[in-house]
Amino acid sequence: MDRLHGFPQPFPDESLYSLAVRYHRLLSNDSYRRTSHELFGVYSRTCGSILPCCLGALSQRLASAYSVEQLIDRFTLLPLYEPFLNDTKSRAARIAMAGDDGTGLKMSLGITASGFLKHASFRYCERCVEEDIQHCGSTYWHRIHQATGTCICPLHGEVLCGTTFPNGADWRCMLFPAEVAGSPVMQVPCRPAAGELSEMQLWGLEHPAAVRNLLVGDFLWHRLDEMGFLKAGRVRLQTLKSFLTPRLLCSPRGNEFQELNCSWEWVLGVVRPRRTVVQPLKFYFLCWLLEAGLEHLKSFLPQADIYGGEATEGSNTGVPAEESEIEARRQAFSSSKNVKCHEKPGYQWLYRHDREWLTQYVSAHPFIRRMTGLVDWAARDEALARNLLIARDQILFTQGKPQKVTRAALNRRVAHSQDFLRMPDKFPISTLLMSDMLESDHDHQVRKVRWAVRQYLLPERSALSVVYRFAGIRLSHVTEEEVLDILSVAKELRLTSGSP
Ligand SMILES: [Zn+2]
Repeated sequence: MDRLHGFPQPFPDESLYSLAVRYHRLLSNDSYRRTSHELFGVYSRTCGSILPCCLGALSQRLASAYSVEQLIDRFTLLPLYEPFLNDTKSRAARIAMAGDDGTGLKMSLGITASGFLKHASFRYCERCVEEDIQHCGSTYWHRIHQATGTCICPLHGEVLCGTTFPNGADWRCMLFPAEVAGSPVMQVPCRPAAGELSEMQLWGLEHPAAVRNLLVGDFLWHRLDEMGFLKAGRVRLQTLKSFLTPRLLCSPRGNEFQELNCSWEWVLGVVRPRRTVVQPLKFYFLCWLLEAGLEHLKSFLPQADIYGGEATEGSNTGVPAEESEIEARRQAFSSSKNVKCHEKPGYQWLYRHDREWLTQYVSAHPFIRRMTGLVDWAARDEALARNLLIARDQILFTQGKPQKVTRAALNRRVAHSQDFLRMPDKFPISTLLMSDMLESDHDHQVRKVRWAVRQYLLPERSALSVVYRFAGIRLSHVTEEEVLDILSVAKELRLTSGSP
């Protein structure tokens, strides 16, 4: 095995691929094949990947200047994904990256299934390119720019450019950023959202342990609780959907966000993942959707530290816990409202370390489902009765030909009419009042005759058939005497008021 005689000094947040490109150019190699054999001892197909393999061989060739772990942590994007992996998956990923066969790695981390891969490109920031030339004497590929969902440079807030390699080639042509012109990865930038996301991802990449604490401390669950999206320990799906739908509409467009904008249901898989690996982009994007920015993530840390022990379940069961820690966990547990005890933060830990207190607490605080839907039927009945009276007056004083006071006409004008129709027993006053208010055919026709006589100034000797026609009466429920009475009263009124 050949030791490498020269290897570039890494720049801040430089990717492994970028180091390979600089090595390739430094030695003026004529092909990627030669470079790959020199660096990895084999022809590596994953050197341009965000999760490159063959790192064991590279570490050896570097005379262990960097261990495999250091190569992974410093030059690849695994630390962005790792907080979302269980120990087994994390170990398997590191073993795969140390070896020379990365087959199935992206699939096991859920990256293939996420649909994000088809939007991937080699991205760079034009401002970074300028500054890197100034400060480092060379451009280089930044690791964070290659993370799925990073469309804005977290340092400069500029939209990143995606590279199209010339003549249908791929990363094997070993170019520096901006050596061929790239195009913006976002045509209609939604800067605040995309910018915040990039910053969160950069922070996540640099602080995997802090992200792990967020997950162990169930940050998103707490956030949903704070925002009132939980009820009795369950997600209030409709309320959450109504909140997220408009927020998704004003989220970044294009590229990988296409996979997230079209529906909100992926959110549930992030909040309660079921044996699938949560994609970092989905986690940080959901934080943004729930109006939690980087500061929220950072400020959750002290509380998250309280739950940190749960990450190492089983390993500390025999060790007595510190008094202060017990107190902190009791506090955190008892201050979480509206969730069942076993869903409160720290339940598992308290079960192992402080079971006596937990048992007492649980028996003293039975979970009572809040009956927010209790209805004061008496008050509702009174209000309905008042509204029925108002509705009756509205019908009686409607302009134009008199409307009949019917059950349907009244119900149309009052609130809670559905309850009233379905549960009349709950509305005793309104039921009585309603039956009193309903107008008979006779009473309605009397009003119609009065209205017609007044409206059309019908003379006292008008024929009954004429009166009925003007009043719109086909089948009469009034007597001839009643009609004559109305005509005669109208004449009297006209005489006293001086009208014809
Ligand atoms: Zn930049």
